[in-house]
Amino acid sequence: MADTEVLIAGGGIIGLSAALELAGHGLRVAVLERGKAMQEASWAAAGMLAATDPENPPALQALAELSIRRYPAFLQRVEQLSGLRVPLRTAKTLQYTHQGEQLWLEEHSFDPRDLCAALPAAVRAAGVELIEETEVLRVTVDGGGVVAETARGSFSAAKFISCCGAWLPPLGTLPVFPVKGQMATVRLPDGVVLDHVIRTPELYLVPRGDGRVVIGATVEHGGFDKSVERSAIERMLASATRLWPAMAAAEIVETWAGLRPASEDGLPILGECVGEFANRCWAAAGHFRNGILLAPATAHLIGQLLRGEKPDVDIAAFRCDRFAVANVH
Ligand SMILES: Cc1cc2nc3c(=O)[nH]c(=O)nc-3n(C[C@H](O)[C@H](O)[C@H](O)COP(=O)(O)OP(=O)(O)OC[C@H]3O[C@@H](n4cnc5c(N)ncnc54)[C@H](O)[C@@H]3O)c2cc1C
Repeated sequence: MADTEVLIAGGGIIGLSAALELAGHGLRVAVLERGKAMQEASWAAAGMLAATDPENPPALQALAELSIRRYPAFLQRVEQLSGLRVPLRTAKTLQYTHQGEQLWLEEHSFDPRDLCAALPAAVRAAGVELIEETEVLRVTVDGGGVVAETARGSFSAAKFISCCGAWLPPLGTLPVFPVKGQMATVRLPDGVVLDHVIRTPELYLVPRGDGRVVIGATVEHGGFDKSVERSAIERMLASATRLWPAMAAAEIVETWAGLRPASEDGLPILGECVGEFANRCWAAAGHFRNGILLAPATAHLIGQLLRGEKPDVDIAAFRCDRFAVANVH
């Protein structure tokens, strides 16, 4: 491991996309994941690439547009490297706004479960060392690089990126926290078809193109609890039926909950750490409701930052040290 150039903590979509990007630029990259890769928020997501959702914070717009431009090449590379398909499932969204408008949006969605299979295989095929069941407990500076301590020994590298989702980064404190979302997949009766996403500010229906529709999601502040409550699912189904009455005859086939990585101001945390970690540690976390959408742009910008290039998008709003309580040294 001593010759690893970049060490990444966190094997969700943000960490693995960054790993793929950096490996594509010829860097030797290792990812340390505390559990199994792509099994947390990135597994739980609905998979909407909601770049034009009027509910998005305006500060996300440029990042979202960059990501949408990079998505086709990102998915193509993942598919080529892994040999697995990540097909787009929808191409349009009917958006209801707070003002009572109905907008048709040119947006795509895919099933994150497809990416959960393909992305880890793709990063491995790209030469990234993906080490699972290995939690980074602490990061310290050492000579010109960093040392990441785990229960399975220490790993050293020239550079470190913290992509730990809703979990606190192992190199100080950042105001990230989990926001739970409960979800359900239903199967529509034969002959009933939904071919576009339907979204309101409170609810969305995301068809998978095979008779299944994902319904989401609750927004709950309650720590790292991923339990599913029958009553919450029933309330969502009732709302879904009011929105799209054909849902009344649908059968629930799966329920689950995931933890969105949130930050205090609702924006991602993306940039170089300060103090002793400057020029050797970066953070990419807190992508909240849009981490699937924002992954290719985040990976691209991380690559630019590590190479010392000017990022294609102004990332001042996402800086690690913008929070009063931030303590990423
Ligand atoms: C219900 C729900 C629906 C969503 N729908 C959408 C959607 O439609 N579109 C969209 O764009 N986004 C959506 N999101 C948001 C999106 O899923 C997240 O923003 C995104 O997955 C975050 O990716 P991540 O890699 O930062 O986090 P994660 O996928 O949570 O990955 C973080 C990883 O870091 C690991 N880790 C943590 N601490 C350590 C450590 N110390 N050492 C090593 N590893 C560590 C964790 O085990 C985890 O695997 C949704 C989220 C939820 C929960």
